[in-house]
Amino acid sequence: MANSTPTPKSALITGITGQDGSYLAELLLEKGYTVHGLVRRSSTFSTERIEHIYKDIHENSRLRLHYGDLTDGQALTNLVLEIEPDEIYNLGAQSHVRVSFDQPVYTLQTVGVGALNVLEAARLLNKKKSVRVYQASSSEMYGDVMQTPQTELTPFNPQSPYACAKVFAFHQTVNYRESYDMFASNGILFNHESERRGETFVTRKITRAAGRIKVGMQKKLYLGNLDAKRDWGYAKDYVEGMWRILQHDEPDDFVLATGRTETVRDFAKLVFQQLDLNYEDFVEIDPRYFRPAEVELLLGDPSKAKEKLGWEATTNLEELARIMTEHDLELAKREAHANSFVPS
Ligand code: NDP
Ligand code: GDP
Repeated sequence: MANSTPTPKSALITGITGQDGSYLAELLLEKGYTVHGLVRRSSTFSTERIEHIYKDIHENSRLRLHYGDLTDGQALTNLVLEIEPDEIYNLGAQSHVRVSFDQPVYTLQTVGVGALNVLEAARLLNKKKSVRVYQASSSEMYGDVMQTPQTELTPFNPQSPYACAKVFAFHQTVNYRESYDMFASNGILFNHESERRGETFVTRKITRAAGRIKVGMQKKLYLGNLDAKRDWGYAKDYVEGMWRILQHDEPDDFVLATGRTETVRDFAKLVFQQLDLNYEDFVEIDPRYFRPAEVELLLGDPSKAKEKLGWEATTNLEELARIMTEHDLELAKREAHANSFVPS
């Protein structure tokens, strides 16, 4: 009798050690996938965000890590042809907008050429086995916005080396879809945050500092432009959207956003309020955090994702701020405790 149980799928995640990669790996493992992750070699461990789901390969873990780098197209192709994933999620990137002004060429190499390397590897695999590719596109591509709220049809007007590189990757993804009939889709994701967000992005910088201020470890928080507006969601909601984009019956491009925008100042106010503090007593402006070109307003229209994928953001900004603030207060308390410990 034929076995009707579907074969478990496998996926490759580039950027698995990052915020989104770690949540996506958890989600796919829960769904029964074998998950392969691309990890950059470094002199210290970079796998902190996935430690809790990693088991030694000798214990037959469904999470397998492989050394690699998006800029090394040959090794990436070898890996893709060897593991033959059903799905590839290209999340790897030099993902910090401010840093992209300091490292424009490197940013293009990882974000732009890196994405092209992924598409080329997938194109070769696709000759013998169909593979679906997700490209982590960004609301930063809209830049100095021409239309609000932004949809899949809003023109791009990028304002940073990072955003220019993401626009390149976006168009390459569409071009591979159209030229080679590949299943290659873009998720145009608006900012999404969490307790795993890198500590130099503004939301996490604020929640980390507020926690430390509350326990007396820090006195001031220096920020740049407080008037910039962002459409902030919770990363856990957004990785579900990435997965749905690749389960859709045809490849396409989708905006994932909350449909609400607030200023950096509003976010800071919310966080400090939750700790019974007034942000005005602690926040100071340091022009070093201003950018050569700023994106003043981002606001996404997620209607297409809701209609075609049944996806919507479920965590509002107050809840997001609460999750991050509580987490970082606990972290600050542990740091304060560790600092006060004197071995006898
Ligand atoms: P993170 O910065 O947290 O993670 C980036 C990941 O990319 C890390 O795993 C990093 O590895 C890896 N990486 C960096 N350079 C390379 C390279 N040359 N080769 C291989 N891997 C590399 O980003 P997020 O998780 O927040 O974002 C995921 C993706 O989504 C990124 O492409 C980002 O640009 C995009 N995006 C994010 C948004 C957000 O609000 N979070 C919004 C829209 C798009 P390592 O740990 O070694 O540094
Ligand atoms: P981005 O939208 O991908 O650039 O995400 P960020 O979290 O890095 O920045 C969001 C907004 O916060 C941008 O408009 C920044 O200019 C603004 N901002 C203000 N102060 C800071 C700061 O100290 N650090 C960062 N990263 N952003 C800041």
